[in-house]
Amino acid sequence: DDKHGLINSRDFGGTKKWRTCYTADATGHTMLFAVANEALKRDVNIEDRKEAISLIHENNRCYGAVVRDLITGEISAYVAKGTLIATGGYGRIYEITTNAVICEGIGTAIALETGIAKLGNMEAVQFHPTPLFPSGILLTEGCRGDGGVLRDVDGYRFMPDYEPEKKDLASRDVVSRRMMEHMRKGKGVKSRYGTHLWLDISILGREHIERNLRDVQEICQSFAGIDPADAGAKGWAPVHPMQHYSMGGIRTKPTGESPTLKGLFSAGEAACWDMHGFNRLGGNSVSETVVAGMIVGNYFADYCVNNQIEIPTYTVEKFVKEKEEYMHELLSLKGTQNIFDIKNKMKRIMQEYVGIFRDGDGLSKAVTELEKLLKQVKNINLKEKNLFANPELEEAYRVPMMLKVALCVAKGALNRTESRGAHTREDYPKRDDANWLKRTLTSWKRGDTLPTIEYEDLDIMKMEIPPGFRGYGAKGNLIENELSAVRQAQVDKIREEMEATGKDRYAIQDAIMPFELQPEYKRKNERLGDR
Ligand SMILES: Cc1cc2nc3c(=O)[nH]c(=O)nc-3n(C[C@H](O)[C@H](O)[C@H](O)COP(=O)(O)OP(=O)(O)OC[C@H]3O[C@@H](n4cnc5c(N)ncnc54)[C@H](O)[C@@H]3O)c2cc1C
Repeated sequence: DDKHGLINSRDFGGTKKWRTCYTADATGHTMLFAVANEALKRDVNIEDRKEAISLIHENNRCYGAVVRDLITGEISAYVAKGTLIATGGYGRIYEITTNAVICEGIGTAIALETGIAKLGNMEAVQFHPTPLFPSGILLTEGCRGDGGVLRDVDGYRFMPDYEPEKKDLASRDVVSRRMMEHMRKGKGVKSRYGTHLWLDISILGREHIERNLRDVQEICQSFAGIDPADAGAKGWAPVHPMQHYSMGGIRTKPTGESPTLKGLFSAGEAACWDMHGFNRLGGNSVSETVVAGMIVGNYFADYCVNNQIEIPTYTVEKFVKEKEEYMHELLSLKGTQNIFDIKNKMKRIMQEYVGIFRDGDGLSKAVTELEKLLKQVKNINLKEKNLFANPELEEAYRVPMMLKVALCVAKGALNRTESRGAHTREDYPKRDDANWLKRTLTSWKRGDTLPTIEYEDLDIMKMEIPPGFRGYGAKGNLIENELSAVRQAQVDKIREEMEATGKDRYAIQDAIMPFELQPEYKRKNERLGDR
């Protein structure tokens, strides 16, 4: 009774405790509207149909962005004390993805094209196990969280055979891999669009579906022509793992600022703030958007209040002019290639060689082919010659940016000779903590056709939880770093000693791994039963 009226939660992938809060199955929708309303209430100036196409910067400092008006085609400069990129993921570099058509990684690319800001772990790409096949419309993990199961061509529930403990609710990378494995064994369902598996939520009953999974039901009805509440095979939905989330992004400090380009901040899926590493936990992304919006938002506001800018108008003009000339140049190209073909080829390459299972040969091929495509974009010929409201021109400047992003993903994946989280190398199946406990950093030198890659080491001796078994997936699949055990012993000792003297978990956590946060956010979260 004391819980009545409090926020509810549901089971979601990879968590022992139910802690995923929801508003039916349209949580993001209700959140987004509440936040947008708040912005309107506070008179935030919202301008849409405007696209940032480059960043204005000088002496390693960011001064704003060059923006193209998608309707008039006008190019203008938005100069600001601070600039924050929150442009989402880069899923559309893949052929099949759950991401919206605008998730093309252009925000990531403009940071990369400064040559100064760096991208982190671009090869860390998450695949979701149950988008509807072949459209890619997502059927939420809540389906399996609530008790839905995966079935193969024989109607057999195969996940418990692979993952006896977590079954259908193992983490996304694991379920996606097991599904691909099972289809490779010939247990997939053949259709004219390719092979897929089934998601069965009919076993949850019509009442549950119509209350908690309404959106899923509607999607299945509108796009697959089935009612998932129908009992038996009639209600099963065709599903296939697809690109879903971009763990990689613009590398930032904990404050959200780029460590290399002052005044440039990033938050959300576009950023590599890096609370996700190589596998984002289900439900942690919309949480990150709001949490990063609050934390990074505060650091960003402080930055804007405490810093002044002085920037010569000729610098601003130089950046604007460069893009104006670039648009004219694109329209005047008289080559033989079609920009849409180049884009589709890129998506195919990423799908084929930089997907769920990767290996050295495929990745080398991907890098070579993508680089070739990047060179070909100079050889296009646009049919539509308008500077304004021109979707073909938009493709012409976006595709080269997408190719650069794709090259960062493919090259990062090629170099990383281990399997970690969602990055699976069939030729290097072990997680290698001895050699690869590091973050890939990619940057792009002007004029180059390949990214420059460096690495940022992670310090085990500063970790609250040193590397160990992740709790699911294959056991013993790990090359240990000798410091892991040293740090574990140290952490255990601190904990034991502090517990013996009656210290609470906040004090213990602070002793093991102190972290900085604005005081208003570091306050304790009061929970039911605290008092
Ligand atoms: C189908 C689906 C279901 C999901 N379900 C869940 C879930 O259940 N739980 C969970 O935690 N996460 C979920 N996620 C992930 C989560 O929704 C996203 O990570 C999150 O919405 C990203 O928010 P964002 O604000 O960082 O970026 P986005 O929401 O992608 O917003 C980016 C914005 O930037 C704009 N933009 C892009 N480039 C430019 C440019 N160059 N100039 C100007 N504007 C630009 C875009 O138009 C867009 O409006 C889901 C994702 C998908 C695709």
